[in-house]
Amino acid sequence: MHPTLEGIEVTVCTKCKRKQFPARKVCQACGSREFILERAYLGTVIARTTVEAPPSGFSKHRLVYVKIGDVYVIASTNGDLPVGSKVKLFTSTERPVIRAVAVDD
Ligand SMILES: [Zn+2]
Repeated sequence: MHPTLEGIEVTVCTKCKRKQFPARKVCQACGSREFILERAYLGTVIARTTVEAPPSGFSKHRLVYVKIGDVYVIASTNGDLPVGSKVKLFTSTERPVIRAVAVDD
């Protein structure tokens, strides 16, 4: 198991409050260049799929598309998460992978 951090790091525009992931140097909504960093944790599954033909060295796994406020991310999951599931996100400190785990409402 790789070390993990809770949530994902997003930039929040100090002018219009829009959240962006991954971090950007210019706000896509208002053009501001001033941001604060914030961690986002909880989201909702809005789509899902299964990788039936994974690359060598990987097993078959599921991917979910998660909405967190203004931000959308693709995450891997071991669970069978239907659309509408509430999930908590984790990031690996060693690999560029976001993982989604089901949470109770
Ligand atoms: Zn902005």
